[in-house]
Amino acid sequence: MQKPGAGKDACMLLDYNSLLLAVGFSAACLSLTLFGTWMAARSDKFLLTWAVSVLVVVVEVFAYDAYIARPGTALGVLTLALLLLGFSVMLGAAYQFRTRRSPLPLIALGAGTSYALALPPMALGYDGLGFMLENALAALLLFGTAYEYWRGRAEAPVHLIGVALLYSLTAASFVLCAAVLAWDGKLVLGHAPSNWAEDLSLVIVIASMTGIGALSLALNQGRHARHHQREAQTDALTGLLNRRALFDLHGKAPVSAFTAVVVFDLDGFKAINDQFGHAAGDEVLKVFAEVLSADLRPNDSVARMGGEEFAMVLRRTLPETAEATAERVRAAFAARTVETETGPLRCTVSAGFAFGSSDGMSFDKVLSAADKALYAAKRGGRNRVLDFRRAG
Ligand code: GH3
Ligand code: MG
Ligand code: MG
Repeated sequence: MQKPGAGKDACMLLDYNSLLLAVGFSAACLSLTLFGTWMAARSDKFLLTWAVSVLVVVVEVFAYDAYIARPGTALGVLTLALLLLGFSVMLGAAYQFRTRRSPLPLIALGAGTSYALALPPMALGYDGLGFMLENALAALLLFGTAYEYWRGRAEAPVHLIGVALLYSLTAASFVLCAAVLAWDGKLVLGHAPSNWAEDLSLVIVIASMTGIGALSLALNQGRHARHHQREAQTDALTGLLNRRALFDLHGKAPVSAFTAVVVFDLDGFKAINDQFGHAAGDEVLKVFAEVLSADLRPNDSVARMGGEEFAMVLRRTLPETAEATAERVRAAFAARTVETETGPLRCTVSAGFAFGSSDGMSFDKVLSAADKALYAAKRGGRNRVLDFRRAG
């Protein structure tokens, strides 16, 4: 048996059933793609949640197709329950994407509320009211999903606003379906709703699903790329920028006379490693990174250059200020007792600093001038800060 009126539009290129099956098959492909992508990167848990949500919608599509052929209360309740569950899980996946938190409470809230409202009329035979509520609640869940992506738009504005718009468009098509049913005002239909809004909604679902799938996978790729880039620029032990990142930030432009480069090198660090062990040495490096990062101005940057050597770049600064800043780091570190597994210990640091010039000096040159000052500070007895101009 066909859906009532399905054959009437001989001029229609595709009938409702074909469109419905197209939705089912493309959703099945999307679900498989999401599942496969999750398998390759298990930490992206939202992909699994999303794959499950699309899978539930696929099952719903085939159940609905059966309902069109054989309308009945049991199948009606089943399709309604599946659709609202699928969209609740989709909302949960969006929340999980944005917050990386568990989607379960939101899924339970979405499914619980929508079931409480839409299932009773459907189960009692008021299928017209049941379908109207189903469409209205599906629209709410989809608008909620759109809102989740909208809230997270700072991460990748174009993609996320695109996803939010496509979910909103789909939601709007469900609003139309609900509105047409409400306008008709029939509490009992006895068959699947059949009107222009239903046809339009399927077309919109097919188009949006493709767009949402492509945009979201691109988003996930972008997230990975940014993660790797951050990792490549970060020193794993201290969390500071590494040498390469510091050169990326400052290495290209000439250094002005108001920019200072300060280099730090821990004193007698080899002896600390020998006496207390490598793990204790690592702890000292972390504590120094903490001291170095404290009270930074927004324009300043600090990096671990390698081993027990660190650098600080101070912009828009004067010699007195640069010296005072380095001196504050030196004094704070010298005063610090580092708790290690092998007992408390103390360590000191030496520093040298240099400035760029009014006609602009290369970053490399300023760095090696600061290095010269640092070695003069070491020769002078360590635990001190020296200006390159006074390094001799
Ligand atoms: P100076 O006062 O002249 O700077 O002497 P120093 O002992 O600090 O200098 P040296 O360059 O001889 O020793 C640096 C030591 O830093 C040697 C190396 O084993 C240690 N080191 C380098 N990287 C790490 C690290 O990541 N962790 C630990 N624990 N030690 C490191
Ligand atoms: Mg060294
Ligand atoms: Mg050293």
